[in-house]
Amino acid sequence: MNYDSVVKVQKIKAAVLRKKGGPLKIESLEMEGPRDEEIMVRLVASGICHTDIAFCDGWEKADNAVVLGHEGAGVVEKAGKKVKSLKRGDHVVLSYQSCGQCWQCRGGHPAHCQHFYEANFGFQRLDGSNALQRSGVRGHFFGQSSFATHCLATERNLVKVSKDLPLEVLAPMGCGLQTGAGTVMNSLKVSDRSSVAVFGTGAVGLAAAMAARLVGAHPIIGVDRKPKRLQLALQLGATHTIDNRRQDVAAGIAHITGRGVDYVIETTASPKTHQLAIEVLNPHGVVALLTGESGTDSLPEGRKTLGIIQGDAVPQQFIPKLIELYKAGHFPFDRLLKFYDFGKINKAIADSKRGDTIKPVLRISEV
Ligand SMILES: [Zn+2]
Ligand SMILES: [Zn+2]
Repeated sequence: MNYDSVVKVQKIKAAVLRKKGGPLKIESLEMEGPRDEEIMVRLVASGICHTDIAFCDGWEKADNAVVLGHEGAGVVEKAGKKVKSLKRGDHVVLSYQSCGQCWQCRGGHPAHCQHFYEANFGFQRLDGSNALQRSGVRGHFFGQSSFATHCLATERNLVKVSKDLPLEVLAPMGCGLQTGAGTVMNSLKVSDRSSVAVFGTGAVGLAAAMAARLVGAHPIIGVDRKPKRLQLALQLGATHTIDNRRQDVAAGIAHITGRGVDYVIETTASPKTHQLAIEVLNPHGVVALLTGESGTDSLPEGRKTLGIIQGDAVPQQFIPKLIELYKAGHFPFDRLLKFYDFGKINKAIADSKRGDTIKPVLRISEV
């Protein structure tokens, strides 16, 4: 079947990256309407994640204009014929994409999807098509491309949420917050009285610290170079902090715990910090790498490093759980957010890069 002949075209506005380093420019584009298994979402808000910024700064192919964004939240505008669980008007949070077909997906582990890379970073559907082709732009980033007024997604990366919470607050749950909290609760299954160090207290690290407090870990040591972030870490979950511009991290951890730590959650992606994380680990301890690197289990005395994707979370199960914790006051992630109008996306990115804003959220449309 020729989809072009049957699928209506939707006019959208999107922040397009056309050259390495940006800036992003808001342009009018034409997007295909949803296929039978797709859902068109009108975005109300989108978080900005470090992965968006990394792509922005690393994008080499100037001929391939792309739409980034993967922490969207919005309202279902149109659901394809085969969509069962969602209908027009539903409020949704968008998360990462998976294929739904491979043995990992079928076994309930979509974060380990065999096609994770293509589904999230391929800038096309898994069949190779691209809904923004008419405009010469590539979308489908994380199965969404949420720096836009509208995007296409599937039931696999949408989470229906209740209408009693603002979508602009819920938007960043789909990646950074899920990753930080999921690492502690799903991947590491940190138990009470385990010692935890969080390297880098950005959004992902602070979500990990909040989750560590929830599961009863102690001590929880936040490590960062920004005093303001360390103060917030103390309020949200950390029991101790180390300013790594002023203090020796290994000596600081030894002073606090009397030895090393059981877990290090490494969010900084610096090779030096990665090495340090291994050095401060107790025997049988684990370094969780939330930086895209893969782990190794060949370290002495049972220590290991684990590369973690999306906190091993199944979004449709884990995001509602985090929302319940938030409503009960146990996961106050709203304190990390700063809101920007969609048109101020480049400023939001600059503020995030400087570390002035922990989690920028773009306001795209009214509910
Ligand atoms: Zn899969
Ligand atoms: Zn992300």
